[in-house]
Amino acid sequence: MKEETIVLHTGHRRDETTTSVAVPIYQTTSYQFDNTEHASKLFSLQELGNIYTRIMNPTCAVLEERMAKLEGGVAAMAVSSGQAASTFSIQNICHSGDNFISSTDLYGGTWNLFNNTMKEMGIECRFVDPKKPEQFENAIDEKTRCIYGETLPNPKLQVFPIEEVGKIGKKHHVPLILDNTAAPYICKPLNHGANIVVYSTTKYIGGHGLSIGGLLIDGGNFDWEKAGDRFKMLNTPDPSYHGAVWSEAAKPLGPIAYILRARVILLRDLGSSMSPFNAFTFIQGLETLPLRMQRHCENAAEIADYLSKQDKVDKVIYPKLMSGDHLDRANKYMQKGHGALVGFELKDGVDAGKKFIDSLKLFYHVANIGDARSLAIHPSSTTHSQLSEDEKLSAGVTPGYIRLSIGLEHIDDLLEDLEQALNNS
Ligand code: PLP
Repeated sequence: MKEETIVLHTGHRRDETTTSVAVPIYQTTSYQFDNTEHASKLFSLQELGNIYTRIMNPTCAVLEERMAKLEGGVAAMAVSSGQAASTFSIQNICHSGDNFISSTDLYGGTWNLFNNTMKEMGIECRFVDPKKPEQFENAIDEKTRCIYGETLPNPKLQVFPIEEVGKIGKKHHVPLILDNTAAPYICKPLNHGANIVVYSTTKYIGGHGLSIGGLLIDGGNFDWEKAGDRFKMLNTPDPSYHGAVWSEAAKPLGPIAYILRARVILLRDLGSSMSPFNAFTFIQGLETLPLRMQRHCENAAEIADYLSKQDKVDKVIYPKLMSGDHLDRANKYMQKGHGALVGFELKDGVDAGKKFIDSLKLFYHVANIGDARSLAIHPSSTTHSQLSEDEKLSAGVTPGYIRLSIGLEHIDDLLEDLEQALNNS
């Protein structure tokens, strides 16, 4: 099935009891066991089935199955936020004393998590500039458990070198985890060498700015057993689960050792599960994701072209307008569109940036991306205001930088709003 069909049909055709076509919201904490033997089999994983909504829920399961299929993965796990997804993606294979490598081009919240909170947990994050993919190899040692990046990181919007870094990971038995939040449907990281995909479903998957949520998707394409001692938590008996060896326990179920451990250990112990109601809102969003992404990308490309012709604009940051490796990667990995985030720099710096934002009438001024509505922010005076000038520049935030998240409105109305705001800036 193609993407447009998968998002409508995978994981649910009709409810077996009521024949409901829409996915029901299973708003329940618990599930009645048939008898004590059935309960015991579920707990020992001899049989798969519902036990308790912190660990699994039928509404969340539809979202998980659809997203796994859409990405070309083998299984997925829904969590309470994108931040929880990033945290779990690392914690599932990194213990205190281990390290992992991350791209420097990251969402600010992820940067804080990796640079500060993970450090407090005894997990070292080694940052590498993705402009030099070969440097990921230099940072790997015997305690390295994974490499982490974002496919389309803002504000730079330079597409991650997925294939180059994926090959380095494969050579050293280190999986590549990619946050694909900004590029669902248009980029399939698992097809190019990634092993695990992470999402903030808060953005394009939901698409309407309603709920906070996240997802982890297991590509099933990494040989955890072959990597041996590097992944003790998957390859040696787990004392917290009757000595289960996750790479063994997963065998009858498929290549799902990573997501199985994430579910039965991390969700069990740390919580952070997605609510069934939020899963329902994400399912509604997902059903129109392919259509929406096409329109998001068309509008964004047209706005990038328009901005690049304006006198008050110094530079437009959009993958289609880049050159060299950045353009090559955008064309190779994002054949269905170059995303809906557009950055631009106003010649007259901070004051012009603030005036521009304050003059917008249609664009919302919010710290979010991926809404059906168009959004704008001036990072230097908001999201990045706590950084030093040097830190801002290395993050790609110049004084006059404006970030736009282009929505689904009619292009003429968007262009009119941008024009009047530029005139006032
Ligand atoms: N990853 C990216 C690329 C993001 O933009 C965000 C939020 O802006 C997150 C992760 C965190 O997601 P959430 O806000 O759902 O926790």
